[in-house]
Amino acid sequence: MTRQPIHKSPFAIRNLIRPDVVRMESYTPVKPFEVLSAELGRAPDSIIKLDANENPYGPSPRVAETLSRFPWYHIYPDPQQNELRDALAVYTGVPADYILPGHGADELLDYLCRLFLTPDDAIINCPPTFGMYSFDALLSGGRVIDVWRDEDFRLDVEGIEKAVARASGRTPLLFITSPNNPDGSLIPHDILRRLLELPLIVVVDEAYIEFADGEGSVAGWVPETPNLVVLRTFSKWAGLAGLRLGYGIFPLEIIQHLWKFKQPYNVNVAATAAGLASLQDLPFLQERVTALKTERDRLFRELQKISYLAPLPSQANFVLCRVRGRAAKDLHSELAGQGILVRYYDKPGLQNCIRISAGILEQTEQLLENLKKL
Ligand SMILES: *Cc1c(COP(=O)(O)O)cnc(C)c1O
Repeated sequence: MTRQPIHKSPFAIRNLIRPDVVRMESYTPVKPFEVLSAELGRAPDSIIKLDANENPYGPSPRVAETLSRFPWYHIYPDPQQNELRDALAVYTGVPADYILPGHGADELLDYLCRLFLTPDDAIINCPPTFGMYSFDALLSGGRVIDVWRDEDFRLDVEGIEKAVARASGRTPLLFITSPNNPDGSLIPHDILRRLLELPLIVVVDEAYIEFADGEGSVAGWVPETPNLVVLRTFSKWAGLAGLRLGYGIFPLEIIQHLWKFKQPYNVNVAATAAGLASLQDLPFLQERVTALKTERDRLFRELQKISYLAPLPSQANFVLCRVRGRAAKDLHSELAGQGILVRYYDKPGLQNCIRISAGILEQTEQLLENLKKL
C-alpha cells in the first residue's frame, strides 16, 4: 500500500536533517520474540533462546512481588535515584557520589559520547567487540578509530598507543569490554593500568563481570583514577534486560557534568524497584549466576567434543565458537528450525562463528543433542 503525502513540502526535509545522520545506514532491529515464535511455528516457551545473553532464569521472584505491590506508578521517579544509588554503593563498594544509574548501560554509553565528542573527535574502539560504542560515537557526530584485537581477542596495546599518538584530531574516549562480548575474555589488570596512562578516558564495560573469575571488577579503582569509567548492568546477571537498568561508576569530575546532562527521569520507577528488589535478594541471584557459570563451563567442554566446532574459553555467560567446514549461517538456521536460537557472525574478525548463551541444563542438553545430529 502506498500512501500519498498530505502536504508536499516546498523544500527537501532531508536537507534539514543532520547530513551525517542522513548518510548513516539504517539500524536492523532484532525481531521481537513473539514474531519470531510465530515464524518458527512454536510457542514462545518452547523456544530455547540462547542468542542474546539473557538470563534464562529471569529475575528474582521478589521483582514480580515488589512490582505487583508498588503503589507509586503515577508519581514521577526521583531524578537523583538516591535509594538505588545507596544500594549500589553497598553492592559495588564505591560511594554513591560516584554512581549514576541509566536506562540500561546503553544509555550511559550515549551520554558519554555526547559529553566528550565534538564533531570529528574519534573514539578508540577495539573490535571484535560490542557494537554500541561505534554506533553511539557516530550518532554523536564523532568518528571511530578501530584498533583490532588479535586472533585470540587480545587487545593490541601498542596499536592503541600508536593510534592515540597518530590521530589527527582529539581522541577523548577508549572503550574496552571486560569480559569482552562476543568471546568472553577478560582484560588483565596490568594491561588496563598501562592503558590508563594514556591521555584519555578509559571506559571499561563490565556488563558480564558477575560471571567472571579472576582479578574481578575495577569499579573500586574509580575514586583514585581520574580517567577511568566503569559501566555495569542488571540485564545479564540479574535477569532484568527487558526493564532496562544499568549504571556507571564515574570520577567526580566527570559525573558532575553528567548530572547536568542526563534526562531527569531517565530511569523509571519499575526498573528502580526491580533493581532494589534484586539487590535485596543477592544470595539467591548469586546462586543462579554460579549455576550459569557451571553450565557455561560444561557447555564449553561439550562443544570441544564436536568435531566442527572450536569453542573459546569464556568468563562471561556465553561461549563463542569458530565453525569449521560448514557455514555458521546454515548451522544457525538449522538450529532455529529446531526452536533453538543462537547468534551467528560472519564478518571481519568473526568469520564463520556462533555465540551461544549459557542456558539451564535442559536447554544445553537439547542444543548439544541437535549439534551432534547435524
Ligand atoms: C548487553 C550488553 C550491554 C547492555 O547493557 P544494558 O544495560 O542492557 O543496556 C552493555 N555492554 C555489553 C558488552 C553488553 O553485552
